Amino acid sequence: LTFEEAKLPDTLARNVHKAGYEKLTPIQKHSIPIVMAGRDLMACAQTGSGKTAAFLLPILAHMMANGVASSSFHPLQEPEAIVVAPTRELIYQIYLDARKFAYGTCVRPVVIYGGTQTGYSLRQISQGCNVLCATPGRLLDVIKKEKIGLSKVRYLVLDEADRMLDMGFKEDIYALLHSPGMTSTENRQTLMFSATFPTQIQSLAREILKPDYLFVV
Ligand code: AMP
Repeated sequence: LTFEEAKLPDTLARNVHKAGYEKLTPIQKHSIPIVMAGRDLMACAQTGSGKTAAFLLPILAHMMANGVASSSFHPLQEPEAIVVAPTRELIYQIYLDARKFAYGTCVRPVVIYGGTQTGYSLRQISQGCNVLCATPGRLLDVIKKEKIGLSKVRYLVLDEADRMLDMGFKEDIYALLHSPGMTSTENRQTLMFSATFPTQIQSLAREILKPDYLFVV
């Protein structure tokens, strides 16, 4: 698979080119067709492998093809995609990539994380939010405050899932999955990325991915 063969929408392809990406990394080569095909995925990937583009590009391509809610002010936003990662640094990097790839499209990514005023996160969200990049605790805060609705979530990404469990976010992840209105496993595409595969990760995958999910190493 090449970037040309991936048939990304023009704006997205242009943004990828502008970012200086010429050849797909192995994780991208294996994951992009799976995600494009709408399948759930469990991928073994380290930081630096290019995993961020592996999930962002097909998700953004789908969103651009299928349309998203317009990014206008509304106190309740209903993102089509949620990306969760364990640390501020990691989620911010994912957000910067999402912004870079979505530049010039109607998709508006937003990032929220702990350690900042919740009011700031809420203002960011209320301006329009199609792709919500969040750390687990702050995500639950804004869900509890009823500032985001979960019924339009078509894509859910758990990045560095093993680290999230190590850092004690297991309860938060389950709380997210069982929040009122959250789309069910059947009605969304769920992607998990993890550097390691302890039994905890395997059981999480069995629980939250569709039974026919694909595994990429
Ligand atoms: P990640 O593993 O997603 O954190 O990506 C690691 C680094 O590789 C980031 O700086 C990306 O911008 C860069 N990168 C990802 N995919 C490609 C690619 N296909 N070609 C060149 N650089 C890439």
